[in-house]
Amino acid sequence: MNYPPRVEVRDLLSKLQTFLREEAYALEPQFLHSPFRELLPQLNSMRVRIKALGLWAPHLPVEYGGPGLTLSEFALISEELGRTPLGHYLCNCQAPDIGNMELLMAHGSDEQKQTYLLPLIAGEVRSCFSMTEPEHAGSNPAWMSTTATRDGDDYVINGHKWFTSSAEGASFAIVMAVTNPEAANRYKRASQILVPTNTPGFRILRNTSVMGHEGSDYASHAEISYENCRVPQRNILGKEGDGFALAQERLGPGRIHHCMRWIGICERAFDLMCSYAAQRELAPGVLLASRQTVQAWIAESRAEIDASRLMVLQTASRIDEKGAAAAREDISLIKFFVAGILQKVLDRAIQVHGARGLTDETVLSYWYRHERAARIYDGPDEVHKTVVARSALKKYGVDVSL
Ligand SMILES: Cc1cc2nc3c(=O)[nH]c(=O)nc-3n(C[C@H](O)[C@H](O)[C@H](O)COP(=O)(O)OP(=O)(O)OC[C@H]3O[C@@H](n4cnc5c(N)ncnc54)[C@H](O)[C@@H]3O)c2cc1C
Repeated sequence: MNYPPRVEVRDLLSKLQTFLREEAYALEPQFLHSPFRELLPQLNSMRVRIKALGLWAPHLPVEYGGPGLTLSEFALISEELGRTPLGHYLCNCQAPDIGNMELLMAHGSDEQKQTYLLPLIAGEVRSCFSMTEPEHAGSNPAWMSTTATRDGDDYVINGHKWFTSSAEGASFAIVMAVTNPEAANRYKRASQILVPTNTPGFRILRNTSVMGHEGSDYASHAEISYENCRVPQRNILGKEGDGFALAQERLGPGRIHHCMRWIGICERAFDLMCSYAAQRELAPGVLLASRQTVQAWIAESRAEIDASRLMVLQTASRIDEKGAAAAREDISLIKFFVAGILQKVLDRAIQVHGARGLTDETVLSYWYRHERAARIYDGPDEVHKTVVARSALKKYGVDVSL
C-alpha cells in the first residue's frame, strides 16, 4: 500500500486544502439555503480558479489532461474534497459524471469521446446514469423492463426510470436497456446506450422528493419516461449485451470514490464535534468536552474513521494492482462498513450539537439527510454483506448464492 503518499500527491492535497478552506467552505451557508442553480455563477468562477491551480479533474489520466494518479492516490484527494458538499463538483469529479467519464474513456468510440467525453471533461456539460426502475428491485440490476429495439439504423427506447441523479440540466444520459431479451445468460440481456436528453421521447416527469427536498440540477433525482426515444445504434457503449458487465466495472472504483468522500465527511463532522465540545459550556466553566460520554464518542469516532481509511486504501491499492474484479469482496466490505461508520459519526456529531445540530447552521443536518442514502445506493448493505459472507462461507464448503 502506497501510504503515506508521494510528494506530488502531497502537494496537490495541500493546494486543495488551502483552496477549499479559504473559498469553498465560505459558500456552504448559501448552498444550504438556496437551490443549487443559484450558486452556479459563483461555482463556475471558482472552477476557473481550480483549473488555473491545476486541481481540475484529478481522477483523469495524463492523456486526458489529468495528473495520472493511481486509484489509491485519488482516494486521498476524494477524501479532502468530501469535507465540503461542494468539493467534488468544484473539481469536476462528482458522481455520476466521474463514473460516466471512466466508462467513456474505457469503452467509448472515437466519435463518442469527441461528442460526449471531451465536453464532460471540460465541465461544459453534465450527464446522468439511468438504470434503476420504480417497478423492479434496483438491487437486482439484471431485472428491468426498459427495452431498446433495433429499427433500421436506430435503437428505439421505451421504459420508465427513477433515481436518475442529476438528470435535470444534464445533456446526455447513459441508459441501461434490454437489447437481447432472449439471451440465456440474464446478465447478457442489457446494454448501455448514450441518449442526448433533448431526444424526442426523453421526458423528466419530476424530481423525486428525497428526505423532504426535491433538489434541482446536479442535486436532484429524476423520474424519467422514455417513449419511442430514437437514437442511432452507434450510440451503444461497448457491445450489445455488455450493459451489466460495464455497470459492474463502473461501480468498483465508484464505491472507492464514495467511501473516501464519506471519510472526508466523517473528518469534517469529527472536527465540528470536537470544536463544539471544546467550547460549549454546560454550566459556567464546565465544558461539554469534560463529559465522559462525549469523550467516548470522540475516541470511538477517531478509531472508526482511521480504520475505515486504511480499509479503503487497502482495497484501492488492490484494485490498482489487480483490477476491480479481484477486489470484489473487499469492495463490498468497505461499502457497507464505511457507510455505517458515516452514519454513526454524523449522528454523534449532531447529538453533541444538541438542537443546533438539527439546524442548517452547520453542514451536519444536510449530510444526515443526504447520506442516509449511502446504505442504499450502489447496492444496499444487505447485498454487500451477502457477497462478503458468501466468500467467507465458501472456504467452509458452503455455497450460498444471491
Ligand atoms: C440518493 C440515491 C441516488 C441514486 N442514484 C441513482 C442513479 O443515478 N442512477 C440509477 O440508476 N440509480 C440510482 N439510485 C438507485 C439505487 O441504485 C437503488 O436504490 C439501489 O440499487 C437499491 O434498489 P431499490 O431502491 O430498488 O431497492 P430494492 O432492490 O427494492 O431493495 C429494497 C431493500 O431490500 C433489501 N434487499 C435487497 N436485496 C436484498 C438481498 N439480496 N438480501 C437481503 N436484503 C435485500 C435491502 O434492505 C434494500 O434496501 C440512487 C438511489 C439513491 C437513494
